[in-house]
Amino acid sequence: MNHTARKRFGQHFLTDPRILANIVGEMHPRPEDHVVEIGPGLGALTHCLLPHLKHLHVIEIDRDLAAKLRSEPLAAQITVHETDVLTFNFASLPSPLRVVGNLPYNISSPILFALLPHASHIVDQHFMLQKEVIDRMVAQPGCSTFGRLSVMLQAYYDMEHLFDVPPESFDPPPRVMSAIVRMVPKPQAHREAIPHAVFARIVGTAFAQKRKMIRNNWAGVVPTELSEQAGIAPTSRAEDISCAQFLEVARNMA
Ligand code: SAM
Repeated sequence: MNHTARKRFGQHFLTDPRILANIVGEMHPRPEDHVVEIGPGLGALTHCLLPHLKHLHVIEIDRDLAAKLRSEPLAAQITVHETDVLTFNFASLPSPLRVVGNLPYNISSPILFALLPHASHIVDQHFMLQKEVIDRMVAQPGCSTFGRLSVMLQAYYDMEHLFDVPPESFDPPPRVMSAIVRMVPKPQAHREAIPHAVFARIVGTAFAQKRKMIRNNWAGVVPTELSEQAGIAPTSRAEDISCAQFLEVARNMA
């Protein structure tokens, strides 16, 4: 099938067989696993996963690509959900679920946040993303890349940057370097103890103006004595506050 890559769907198709094999090797799929692939595209990763699985769910927004997947010889092994991943109900899939995909970079953060409420049903997530995004996800306090994405995701997942993927591994090549990340939800008791709405608000306000002192960003949001209880000086900047300290402030507030 001749398919012209659609920019609006962030289409960059993986063509490097070594990278594909490395992703499957890191994921280590087993026949009984319930797996969903986000954005299968022309099926490069799909075809590498299928020999290891009894069945695979895929979510693809592009009508032509979804039709192609349905017409494949291996179609009986695949359930194609032709829809927008951002509105997809992951709870409708069997659990425990493993999620994998070379994500459309234009909506990668919204996809990561859309998956957060499903963490209880998810075993792990293996994603190709812009390397710059993965750097932010795994960044530690004091790093220039440490920010809202780092704190929000590190509270809920253990994450590992697995390896980098250069632009020439794709057709068409993206303009940026890519990488693979593994995300494993933290234990349920830990996640359920997070007062999510309060946590999201204090993290959002803390990083609203990154260079400002935290007492200014949190004015009217977090009482100073609560931040001090968590060992945060009023003159600190958000990028110096650890994920554990943000969690402590959120719990104290809740
Ligand atoms: N997995 C393929 C590969 O590695 O060659 C394609 C990856 S390409 C970067 C992203 C894929 O996600 C495309 O197939 C695109 O059509 C699909 N996509 C883009 N936006 C989507 C959305 N909102 N919901 C579901 N799929 C989407």
